[in-house]
Amino acid sequence: MTKIRFDSASDLIKQADKSTKTIGQLVIEQTKNSQLISSDEVIADMHKRIVIMEESIKKGLQNTGRTKSGLAGGDAVLLKKYKSAKQIISKTQLKALSYSFAIMEQNARFGKIVALPTAGSAGTVPGSLIAVFEDLNLNRDDLIDAFFTAGAVGILVASKASVAGAVGGCQAEVGTASAMAAAGLTQLRKGTPSQCFNAAAIALKGLLGLVCDPVAGLVECPCIKRNATAISNAFMASELTLAGVRSNIPFDEVVMAMNNVSKLMAQELKETAKGGLATTPTGEKIRRKLYS
Ligand code: SF4
Repeated sequence: MTKIRFDSASDLIKQADKSTKTIGQLVIEQTKNSQLISSDEVIADMHKRIVIMEESIKKGLQNTGRTKSGLAGGDAVLLKKYKSAKQIISKTQLKALSYSFAIMEQNARFGKIVALPTAGSAGTVPGSLIAVFEDLNLNRDDLIDAFFTAGAVGILVASKASVAGAVGGCQAEVGTASAMAAAGLTQLRKGTPSQCFNAAAIALKGLLGLVCDPVAGLVECPCIKRNATAISNAFMASELTLAGVRSNIPFDEVVMAMNNVSKLMAQELKETAKGGLATTPTGEKIRRKLYS
């Protein structure tokens, strides 16, 4: 899948509208053609990856221990058990957050995860899509289609900008994951191809400029909770879209803007742990404690 390149979201939308196919179906078709394998094999490969994501959620929800650094662990279970008469987010969004924490905590424990698009942002897309798939009682084909739709967003960002925190800051990692999830959530709920990219545009705009500042250089703080931000942002972007709200800036141009912001961003804010939260008094204290 990484070998295929789309020219733009606008091209994909045009192709999808013309062929009455979903974005996901077009990704399957192009992957099949570029890798010289059958559609069934492309789908089976995605299915295999989704099973790995489901297993990491399951394991993360069974493990309440702290990570080796002591910075994370146990929050997935905490969220799973959380119930309050004063709760203001939906049951499904809370489940998505819990699933994302489960995956991210597994990642911090060096457990098996699927980097989507990166390890630091691995909780957002599966957390969102699997929770909604379960709660809306959708079928497996719909889930697979939504993952391929999310994949198209990731492919476009990776080819036009970057999905690496070291290159573009956290907007590139968690921002992209949020845009992927927003598109996938919109597809899961039968949005049009144009709506999928509208949701992705709104999500990415919301996290534009987000810096990469991991405390002690570990993918734990703020990364795990940033995935929670990305999920909330994706739910919002998909809902706004289905309600009819349109992004003034199209997705392709939001990606151009993200790339531009990446170039303007200081090196201290690109995974070097030399700025942002990493250099707060508490961030420094944690680093000294871990490495002294
Ligand atoms: S802060 Fe940096 S390491 Fe952490 S998720 Fe964001 S980009 Fe990745």
